[in-house]
Amino acid sequence: MKVHFPFDNSYTALPAHFFARVAPTPVQAPRLIKLNTVLAEQLGLDPDWLASAEGVEVLAGKRVPDGADPIAMAYAGHQFGHFVAQLGDGRAILLGEVIDRNGIRRDVQLKGSGPTPFSRRGDGRAALGPVLREYIVSEAMYALGIPTTRSLAAVTSGEQVQRETMLPGAVLTRVASSHIRVGTFQFFAARQDIDALKHLADHVINRHYPDLAKAEHPYRALLDAVITRQAELVARWLHVGFIHGVMNTDNCSIAGETIDYGPCAFMDEYNPATVYSSIDEMGRYAYANQPRIALWNLTRFAETLLPLIDSDEKAAIDIAQNSLGAFTDIFNDAYQSGLRKKIGLFTAQPDDDALVQDLLALMTANQADFTNTFRRLGTAAVDPEDDGDVRAEFTDPAAFDGWAVQWRQRLSRESQDGATRAKAMNAVNPAFIPRNHRIEAAIQAALANDFAPFEELVSVLAKPYEDQPQMAEYGSPPAPDERVLRTFCGT
Ligand code: AMP
Ligand code: MG
Repeated sequence: MKVHFPFDNSYTALPAHFFARVAPTPVQAPRLIKLNTVLAEQLGLDPDWLASAEGVEVLAGKRVPDGADPIAMAYAGHQFGHFVAQLGDGRAILLGEVIDRNGIRRDVQLKGSGPTPFSRRGDGRAALGPVLREYIVSEAMYALGIPTTRSLAAVTSGEQVQRETMLPGAVLTRVASSHIRVGTFQFFAARQDIDALKHLADHVINRHYPDLAKAEHPYRALLDAVITRQAELVARWLHVGFIHGVMNTDNCSIAGETIDYGPCAFMDEYNPATVYSSIDEMGRYAYANQPRIALWNLTRFAETLLPLIDSDEKAAIDIAQNSLGAFTDIFNDAYQSGLRKKIGLFTAQPDDDALVQDLLALMTANQADFTNTFRRLGTAAVDPEDDGDVRAEFTDPAAFDGWAVQWRQRLSRESQDGATRAKAMNAVNPAFIPRNHRIEAAIQAALANDFAPFEELVSVLAKPYEDQPQMAEYGSPPAPDERVLRTFCGT
């Protein structure tokens, strides 16, 4: 028999209490909604086979492919600041790992494939809406160039799931560098299982940070490396107006990828206090809080590593605090350097941050669309006569003019011409983001069995930095009656 998934599993070689072996629960009548053929090829999988009846059964959890060793991973986590000692994959099953075309080990996981020993009161299933949402947003993040888990496929199960109403069930095939989270470390730390922590840390170093194995203090170096990746990741989110929505420690990837797309959203008008998630009543995970929360999560991560960092607890705490102390500078460097590029600067000057923050404050006061203001600033960089479009983003267009004087003075201190600058700006300021109202419209159409809007949205978002004039409407913010003010995790 032909092996369709060249699995090479490493997590299942870890101690038995790291996971629970569990097979997906077969579903009635799986049907393929979407196959990511480009990703399939990157993974060394055969897209034609994946789209075949047999392949779709695998993607739906109805058939377990040869070489798979399906497991649900154990983890804990702080949810909205409250520690839960056992969470784990309640509706996700890791089929196994494959080595992709670039030699990178990737997890292939089914999400919504039935209950596991970690399901608690959940049904282990996923509804169509959240599956499409994760597909759209994760693939958009990838196209934007931001580290993220990917979506290989979405299938409907032919079964209904009970949420507030009955909804069509679906399964997402998620691909990740790994599904190891801060919460995975917390699971063992909470049980004072130092031996397991060491196994896990060694696995993570070997898999995600192989250079650190040679470091004088590998576990300290691991903490530093995870801090750096998370700080840079959150800076990237802020550059595109992304709000994760549930930055619990169990949704914080050790590999530094964006993971667990639930009530996440991109903002339209720029406002740092923006929150969409219906469950985030206190705004803990608001747009501008994300760096602070990342540091909070990393502090929980550091706590789990203390016994590995130094046998003397006080010494270990000092070392960890020193590492965590670097977060703010790493984040600020990444955040500010990205913002400088967004306004077209090639060099760094001491007043640049103030210049960008002035623009952001004016955008908030004038309800300017975050994405379109920066995209149109690229046009204005070529010729001041072309300020019209960007000015129109501000309720009081004159507010832009005052800022533009300062901006052009600053630009005049660099030698690049306008066209070069605009090109560089268009490579970092997307024309298209997954706007909430578009996602919602695609989901509503899919629920009525029309997948064309979903397909079109996914295809526009695959090239977010290209103008795509025929698709210009996808760049428009919502009309007042299209605005989506709340998003739901829908689990
Ligand atoms: P999330 O909000 O997706 O990060 O999930 C938090 C926890 O709840 C994780 O342990 C999930 O596996 C679990 N969970 C979420 N939805 C379900 C469901 N429908 N059935 C079982 N477990 C679930
Ligand atoms: Mg989660």
